[in-house]
Amino acid sequence: MKKGYISEIFSSLQGEGPYAGRRQIFIRFAGCPLSCFYCDTPYARDQTLGTCTVFGNDERSVENPMPAHLVIEFVKELRTPDLHSISYTGGEPLLSPSFVEEIAKEAKNMHLRNFIETNGYSAKAFASIADYFDYASIDIKLRNHGAVEEKDYERLYSNAVGCIKISVDRGIETIVKVVVIKNTAVEEIEEICRDLADLNIKFVLQPVTAPPSLQSADIVPGVKELFALSETAGLFLHHVMVIPQLHKFLRIR
Ligand code: SF4
Repeated sequence: MKKGYISEIFSSLQGEGPYAGRRQIFIRFAGCPLSCFYCDTPYARDQTLGTCTVFGNDERSVENPMPAHLVIEFVKELRTPDLHSISYTGGEPLLSPSFVEEIAKEAKNMHLRNFIETNGYSAKAFASIADYFDYASIDIKLRNHGAVEEKDYERLYSNAVGCIKISVDRGIETIVKVVVIKNTAVEEIEEICRDLADLNIKFVLQPVTAPPSLQSADIVPGVKELFALSETAGLFLHHVMVIPQLHKFLRIR
């Protein structure tokens, strides 16, 4: 039985993309190799987090690393009649693929749907677990996100595009998400959309939600900018959406 590091497990509403508002059980894996400046889960970036918090019938702390069968027990406890799917999120779930695989396999045995949310940093890790997933939401980071140093950007980008192509090839419903900030270059979005042209994906432009430390900074794109980016994406892709983070409006986890 595999063990792994998890930051938190809870039931809530999906807050991003075309499935915003759908009820999910979130398994937030600990650890992330990136460092986006707008990260809203910095507490989940430590891969050796001592405890996982479970928000079930009551709030509990469980020691890490925790076994996959215990994660499944919490999934059973949190299951509700309106459940859409299990969200494997982070941090970054691809950091622990064999642990994710064991949980996802058991969830499939329970006839649950699996939904992975990843920054796409490893196409190899994604390929190893993709067959257990019904939905994949894969990020493409822009150069100005600060996710990696400039010298490592091309590698991150090609891995994310690799994850997207694997996801589409395996018949997974594939969502591609790009967080956009003020003055995001139309040319950068155009380049990405050219690379993804003709793939069966839902493409989401997500205006950044300013983290608490940047509340006074002018980083959120205006409506005209969002229209221009959306129109550019629409030249290459069929399903283009502009969707902000719902859970920030509802003030829920
Ligand atoms: S990939 Fe996600 S978890 Fe990692 S730093 Fe970026 S926003 Fe935070």
